[in-house]
Amino acid sequence: MNIHEYQAKELLAKYGIGVPTGYPALTVEEAVEAAKKLPGPLYVVKAQIHAGGRGKGKFAELPADAKGGVRLAKSIEDVQADARDMLGNTLVTVQTGEAGKQVNRLYVTDGVDIAKEYYLSMVVDRASSRIAMIVSTEGGMDIEEVAHSTPEKITTITIDPATGFMPHHGRSVAFALKLSGDLAKAAQKLSKKLYEAFTALDCDMLEINPLVETAGGELLVLDTKMSFDSNALYRHPDVEAMRDETEEDPMEVEASKYDLAYIKLDGDIGCMVNGAGLAMTTMDIIKLNGSFPANFLDVGGGATTEKVTAAFKIILSDPAVKGILVNIFGGIMRCDTIAEGIVIAAKEVELDVPLVVRLEGTNVQQGKDILANSGLSIIPADDLGDAAKKIVAQVKEAA
Ligand code: GDP
Ligand code: MG
Repeated sequence: MNIHEYQAKELLAKYGIGVPTGYPALTVEEAVEAAKKLPGPLYVVKAQIHAGGRGKGKFAELPADAKGGVRLAKSIEDVQADARDMLGNTLVTVQTGEAGKQVNRLYVTDGVDIAKEYYLSMVVDRASSRIAMIVSTEGGMDIEEVAHSTPEKITTITIDPATGFMPHHGRSVAFALKLSGDLAKAAQKLSKKLYEAFTALDCDMLEINPLVETAGGELLVLDTKMSFDSNALYRHPDVEAMRDETEEDPMEVEASKYDLAYIKLDGDIGCMVNGAGLAMTTMDIIKLNGSFPANFLDVGGGATTEKVTAAFKIILSDPAVKGILVNIFGGIMRCDTIAEGIVIAAKEVELDVPLVVRLEGTNVQQGKDILANSGLSIIPADDLGDAAKKIVAQVKEAA
């Protein structure tokens, strides 16, 4: 789960990490009130969307030369004008895709006099089973570009969770950022606190870009993105309360209500599968046959009729879906139960695209009979390869 910048900064501040003072605002009036609470004379008005690259972003509704989604304002009147410009408009950045994201909230912060910008991020590194801290002196800009053209400017430090953050990790961070004296000490303290926050909050990613050295010689987190391990959210109701469903894909939100693991993808074949491994395999074999999956969808082990119906509705609400492939392995869940669920669901949602069903496992013959006698034009498949070929052929034929 992702949260907004202002929420992430609130969390980091609780761990004693330095962030500029700021207040969120949902209206122009609130933005002005926020600015009045700040010392000035420099303010920053920041669009709060779950995507980066806001500074260089463009508003779809504003002239091409208008400023982006992070604006420096030199007076309260400027804050007001910027808030008017941004609220309700669509910000398009390299991370939002062409459709952009509507700006519904702003964050008005105290403007910082920046001496230098750095980069620091943390991720759970599955390859090393450790937490990786990635640092670079090249902050503020596109880190992917730095990684591509000057990889030597990026240092990765891995921390073993069994022993935790050690003083030498902090020294390595300071060294990689080429800091000395008080700033080096500040970097050591900061990286230790970040590690504490990251592990205590069950983050799976924390990115600070830029981390800044102020003209006054302080280290401050100027921009941050944080995401959390959804499976650990039950341990953090305060974090869970920060969820902003308006930032998420509406179909993914709907799926989560039924405990369905759903991720929207770009292709045209909707998939309904039980088990994540089987779902991955199904997606692979669709690609192998020359098409692309429209989604990843794992209905889980205990798929009920209700769940299967919800899954069908979610798949069909995606206008890109031109055909559906159901691939179910009946284990504890028997194939006849699944087949009944498919028939009820298909009738309820008035299925109007080809549907290929491959069933295997317990009571498979009864399941196939139910589908065959349902009066629906369900195309049965014998195995995964056959199923993929059939749905790809159906969709190509219809196109
Ligand atoms: P992003 O574009 O979504 O990554 O948003 P950021 O919060 O990183 O802001 C983009 C850029 O705006 C930063 O890299 C800074 O150069 C600049 N910026 C943001 N806040 C301030 C500030 O308080 N003072 C100054 N001088 N520049 C800022
Ligand atoms: Mg940034």
